Amino acid sequence: MIEAKGVTKNFGDLQVLKGIDLMIPQGSVTCIIGPSGSGKSTFLRCINQLESLDGGYIVVQGEPVGVKIKNARLHTKSHAESAKMRENIGMVFQGFNLFPHMTVLQNICEAPIRVKRQNPKTVRDRARVLLDRVGLSAKADAYPSSLSGGQQQRVAIARALAMEPSLMLFDEPTSALDPELVGEVLDVMRALAQAGMTMIVVTHEIGFAREVGDHLIFMDGGGIVEQGDPRTVLKDPQHERTKQFLAKVI
Ligand code: ATP
Ligand code: MG
Repeated sequence: MIEAKGVTKNFGDLQVLKGIDLMIPQGSVTCIIGPSGSGKSTFLRCINQLESLDGGYIVVQGEPVGVKIKNARLHTKSHAESAKMRENIGMVFQGFNLFPHMTVLQNICEAPIRVKRQNPKTVRDRARVLLDRVGLSAKADAYPSSLSGGQQQRVAIARALAMEPSLMLFDEPTSALDPELVGEVLDVMRALAQAGMTMIVVTHEIGFAREVGDHLIFMDGGGIVEQGDPRTVLKDPQHERTKQFLAKVI
């Protein structure tokens, strides 16, 4: 389970997150939508400890990410603690960020072998299973530059899964793809959801949010304006800002 309470984040004078409260049950899919600059990526980065919090707290699987202790200073984890915790959280970005000088299989095996120090043979066997899951068994020895954007993003998903995370964060994973390649990535994400992975997905793919999401959040101006069952929110948004946004993207 992930719990966020009163999460605030500032960049200089700019308050980018203005008190986010959120409860995400294990095995659920939460989709986040909202206009550019509303703080969606920053919130994901706070969960993943790529950004520190300025206030409030986030707890992931019982582990505090940043906790404000009795209105006093923020408890910030040590570098080692943060790194350890990040191993449990897989993240997939808009850009695929694969290591260009490594094959697909090497990309997937790198972190489990180097960071987790797992047995290389075991890791490689698991990587092949993951490649099969994302439909890319035939590409194990290919280099990223020879793959399509959709294939690269599926490798990026397999690479994140190789760390055996308990939570997967997706930040607009299909936004950089040609339209005809979006479906294959969403299919992999849908299968992952069906397999019970806890997922937070920032996306403009409203159809995905409606069909796969258990919960939908609309963010604007650093806060959650509206949230609820995706089908209900999309069909019958209550807030004017949500209505305006949906009118533009649907
Ligand atoms: P988009 O849909 O364009 O990806 P977003 O909702 O993900 O937008 P964020 O990237 O979280 O928005 O940015 C929220 C605000 O914080 C923006 O005003 C952005 O300019 C600002 N911001 C983000 N990162 C930084 C940073 N490292 N330093 C200063 N300002 C930042
Ligand atoms: Mg963003």
